[in-house]
Amino acid sequence: MRIPCAYANWKMNKTLFEALDFVYKFVPGLFSEIKEGSIGVTIFPPAPFIWPMRQELGESSPIFIGAQNIHAEKEGAFTGELSGSIIRSAGATHVLIGHSERRNIFGEDNAMIAKKLGRALRDRIIPILCVGENLRERESGKAKEIVEEQLAMAWEGQEVTGGALIAYEPVWAIGTGKNAEPKDAQAMAEFVRDWVARYFTPETAGTMRILYGGSVSPENISNYAKLPDIDCALVGGASLDTKAFLEIAKAIAKAGPGGAV
Ligand code: PEP
Repeated sequence: MRIPCAYANWKMNKTLFEALDFVYKFVPGLFSEIKEGSIGVTIFPPAPFIWPMRQELGESSPIFIGAQNIHAEKEGAFTGELSGSIIRSAGATHVLIGHSERRNIFGEDNAMIAKKLGRALRDRIIPILCVGENLRERESGKAKEIVEEQLAMAWEGQEVTGGALIAYEPVWAIGTGKNAEPKDAQAMAEFVRDWVARYFTPETAGTMRILYGGSVSPENISNYAKLPDIDCALVGGASLDTKAFLEIAKAIAKAGPGGAV
């Protein structure tokens, strides 16, 4: 059973007060869905807020807190970086790996992403591997080739998924207000699931959750939540607003895994 999920990537936004205020307002709004277990929520705040948000939610809260980044090495002289044990001891259970902003702005290539994935697996932090093509690659018909390369290179030499989720995020749809056509998002999610079945096993593919990300909003989430191979959404801009993210999470919970009501 794939539990639908709504994941919030806050990027470099919010103050500590705003982050705690979000928790205060968001949790009661989603109470029945969380109680029924019909939705999983993970918030990826700026790193200094991981611990205070975990404390505010309480140990037994089903809402998870994740980190937006992880360093490939276990520890050492890497000023400004965060290791797996640092983020985990602060309360993060999940980590984003391969986000297009990390790839494009910070120059992380597939080889670096593979190292980070390996680190998350070794440190027992659930990775959300982000993959997706840019506009040029889509227009030249290379989207699947690019995504396959990203998947294969990330998992090269790794034998376990570590409970990983895969987020399909076309680069041209992130933060732009442009969305992938639902049929294209479904085709890519199906392609990703097939890859997982070939690389791991069909059983693993059947239980792995796949997210769509790219300008998801309360207005368009139903187009994606109903797709058979998309279980969850990774939401950037719209997740900063409590009401908008609540609406998105509720729509995903209602649609169920892979859109099955
Ligand atoms: C993201 O940052 O992963 C994302 C999908 O952002 P947005 O929803 O703003 O496009």
